[in-house]
Amino acid sequence: MSKVYDVIILGGGPAGLTAGLYAGRSRLSTLIIEKGQDGGQIAITDEIENYPGQMVEGESGPSLIARMTEQAKKFGAERCSDVIKSVDLSGDVKKLVGTKGEYEAKCVIIATGAFPKPIGCENEGKFTGKGISFCATCDAAFFEDFEVYVVGGGDSAVEEAMYLTKFARKVTIIHRRDELRAAKSIQEKAFANPKIAFMWDSVVVKVDGDELLSTMTVKNTKTGELTEVKADEDDGLFGLFGFIGYNPNSQLFEGMLDMEHGYIKTDDNMHTSIPGVFAAGDIRVKSLRQVVTAAADGAIAAMQAEHYVSNH
Ligand code: NAP
Repeated sequence: MSKVYDVIILGGGPAGLTAGLYAGRSRLSTLIIEKGQDGGQIAITDEIENYPGQMVEGESGPSLIARMTEQAKKFGAERCSDVIKSVDLSGDVKKLVGTKGEYEAKCVIIATGAFPKPIGCENEGKFTGKGISFCATCDAAFFEDFEVYVVGGGDSAVEEAMYLTKFARKVTIIHRRDELRAAKSIQEKAFANPKIAFMWDSVVVKVDGDELLSTMTVKNTKTGELTEVKADEDDGLFGLFGFIGYNPNSQLFEGMLDMEHGYIKTDDNMHTSIPGVFAAGDIRVKSLRQVVTAAADGAIAAMQAEHYVSNH
């Protein structure tokens, strides 16, 4: 019979690690299960300048996450690297089955995150964080006075494009069709914005550059014509933001928990539709997906887990 933990936390990003820290400090026996490296999306972020108190020159996502991991460990949260394949959350003891073993706990905090859909062009991985971004709130300031391109035609793409005009000299929306999917009210604002231009019926097929992104090939979806986009010579680089939707990591819980577009619904205290099961961070239905909101969710979820364990 395996050990029954007070709480198992699924996911080692900012939400999961903060939950681990708070659960550990509350003297709950805690296990954090992460399938890959800690950090989630933040592990691939070069610079972080919007986490409160983060003024350390050269701070990167991985260095911030390394300290979060260390801090959770310091307060006794155990760690395990495994890929969970199935879960049974129905009983008083929640059961998780991974490729390496089985795990049991009185409650579970789901912090498995969500990942932006890739643009799908050649060399995308090589230039992610070096010109390609999936977060305007995080990276817009790095493109002050530069040219920026946005891929997508939905609410996110058009709203983020408008946000980017506060920083960039010009923002061009590249959309695969000749009309936007975004709500009409959002479209109207974008059409009225003099800094926004459009490349219709277009998809990015390849990106390139030396160290930083400076050229891309755009294909016309109707004619097949290829256009080379080059950075202005004085700039030497441009930004490319992808907003074509997100993939929440919630497949394991489909049919078990209440969800909206694949995101787990919670109340303000991170309770899901099953008692003893909490969700925190990007996996949740919420308005702002950032390190600071993920950390806050993780803290709340752990304190609620503590109340749940004390009362059961
Ligand atoms: P979305 O509505 O699914 O739009 C995705 C956009 O990306 C679409 O224009 C789609 O093109 C395009 N796209 C998808 N795959 C692509 C690919 N492989 N290559 C190129 N383009 C591709 O996603 P979202 O904008 O992230 O919004 C998600 C949900 O959140 C929506 O329900 C949205 O209404 C909501 N949301 C609301 C607000 C708001 O109300 N203020 C703000 C943000 C998001 P097609 O149009 O051709 O399919």
